[in-house]
Amino acid sequence: MSVETQKETLGFQTEVKQLLHLMIHSLYSNKEIFLRELISNASDAVDKLRFEALSKPELLEGGAELKIRVSFDKDAKTVTLEDNGIGMSREDAITHLGTIAKSGTADFMKNLSGDQKKDSHLIGQFGVGFYSAFIVADKVEVFSRRAGLAGSEGVHWSSKGEGEFEIATIDKADRGTRIVLHLKDGEDEFADGWRLRNIVKKYSDHIALPIELPKEQAAAEGEETPAQEWEVVNRASALWTRPRTEVKDEEYQEFYKHIAHDYENPLSWSHNKVEGKLEYSSLLYVPARAPFDLYQREAPKGLKLYVQRVFVMDQAESFLPLYLRFIKGVVDSNDLSLNVSREILQKDPIIDSMKSALTKRVLDMLEKLAKNEPEQYKGFWKNFGQVMKEGPAEDFANKEKIAGLLRFASTHGDDGEQVVSLAEYLARAKEGQDKIYYLTGETYAQVKNSPHLEVFRKKGIEVLLLTDRIDEWLMSYLSEFDGKTFVDVARGDLDLGNLDSEEEKKEAEEVAKAKEGLVERIKAALGEAVSEVRVSHRLTDSPAILAIGEQDLGMQMRQILEASGQKVPDSKPIFEFNPTHPLIEKLDGEQGEERFGDLAHILFDQAALAAGDSLKDPAAYVSRLNKLLVELSV
Ligand code: ADP
Ligand code: MG
Repeated sequence: MSVETQKETLGFQTEVKQLLHLMIHSLYSNKEIFLRELISNASDAVDKLRFEALSKPELLEGGAELKIRVSFDKDAKTVTLEDNGIGMSREDAITHLGTIAKSGTADFMKNLSGDQKKDSHLIGQFGVGFYSAFIVADKVEVFSRRAGLAGSEGVHWSSKGEGEFEIATIDKADRGTRIVLHLKDGEDEFADGWRLRNIVKKYSDHIALPIELPKEQAAAEGEETPAQEWEVVNRASALWTRPRTEVKDEEYQEFYKHIAHDYENPLSWSHNKVEGKLEYSSLLYVPARAPFDLYQREAPKGLKLYVQRVFVMDQAESFLPLYLRFIKGVVDSNDLSLNVSREILQKDPIIDSMKSALTKRVLDMLEKLAKNEPEQYKGFWKNFGQVMKEGPAEDFANKEKIAGLLRFASTHGDDGEQVVSLAEYLARAKEGQDKIYYLTGETYAQVKNSPHLEVFRKKGIEVLLLTDRIDEWLMSYLSEFDGKTFVDVARGDLDLGNLDSEEEKKEAEEVAKAKEGLVERIKAALGEAVSEVRVSHRLTDSPAILAIGEQDLGMQMRQILEASGQKVPDSKPIFEFNPTHPLIEKLDGEQGEERFGDLAHILFDQAALAAGDSLKDPAAYVSRLNKLLVELSV
């Protein structure tokens, strides 16, 4: 035992304590994954060393094959993992093994319900990592030294997983990390060669460097124990370099968990090798679930970049557009230089053409998923639909393709679920319908009952119902799909084109003519509040409605801009009334100008309320309405 100096006891960050608790109590049915996590970390550590050694070969400290060793001691009930990767300094150990650096972790932890079943799903969004060692161990010791530091600058970290850990400086001759798990009572089954070998095969076969276990050897009685021999138990070749046909689904899945630090299987993947002017391999995955930090600006995104099989960087963001930031995977290029930097990636024209090819691969993969596994695609859309909606604005070239992947709620569904594709919408459109109709609003309940839909309901025309915050903005980038233009049914002068018969059009014209006088009277009464007053063709049940001017900002956009402190140009709505509604007939017959004005204002305010807008002067509305009510009751 080497000398320990500078001994300290430190507390875990609160989030670590919570995670440890959750892990120990919710992952007991799949304990063996601790080995996968520790091997995954060792492999990352070796990748980092290989990369840093490109510019500082002395870090390799004389060579030695890079590898991971897993051993055990049945009597002491320990399992030990050793790697000769990058290692950790004392500070590294304190931060990496005592805190969780991901932004938003505290918020995430607040969402834990205490219900172990539910929480164990949440852990999937988080990834389990190093702390999973405590599922099987009641004491974990880490001995490490960072490559490049002196042999006297090793670190010994140890913890019982109960809120604190001890840290000391030690001598460690070899660079890298050794982790000793002291197994809990009842977990001795893991101190077994056969068991460990099976777990490694099952979860870590894809790891690209050798994982060695002690060779099973029987010492004959009376003989001296033979020197320890080791044997490689995994395939130890980079998975993406193998031909597609030779890789099993389980291998793809385990590889995903390793690179994505995810606990669940992916929904889908696409593995390709490109040869020709550019040469690269890519393996791209669609996760099954959104990570908790999908909307955090600093959240990890991008692919793992390798150059000729050598790991170069994590989170290389230049290979996919932002709206596909949830995609995980690996790209291995033969054309880039090993000392490529993020800055170079941003400018390199090679990257641009790789980016557009990879983007297309992802969109194709999603199209396939939508077509072949519609149920899974529903799940995908629930998790990532909001992010996909950023697509048309960001990626002009693929606008049509992205539009085809969008899913909407519609008047033809009854629960507000976003399941209708544009292709489906068009396939069941009315004969002669050459537009895609939609309505935006705050909530599904509000748009579903909007008076703007009355004429569509009457004619059985489907309208898409858009209530996500991003929707109005999205629609400002989508003008058409499959040659059909989008029409906001709350905007401008609704023209149903071929969907109105000649008779209907003629009748509408006649009514408009007959009501010219009423239009003028209302205009005079409402004055500055409206930009225009006209007879409506879109109402069957409601007396009046407010339409947005063709060029004006919609309510959602206005609210978003206002919330961000921007000055929003004032726009006045168009007041449309339903000439056959009894209230309007009453208004038409009203002789008293004051009463006419009150009634017109009430109708105007009600139309605003029905559209989900707030009133400019609610008190005036209430007092006018009350005045009418009093008159009614006498
Ligand atoms: P993740 O792998 O997602 O980063 P982990 O909880 O698995 O999270 O590991 C936490 C961190 O601890 C790693 O990011 C790494 O910095 C450090 N670490 C863990 N194991 C090793 C190791 N064998 N060698 C070097 N560093 C390690
Ligand atoms: Mg890890």
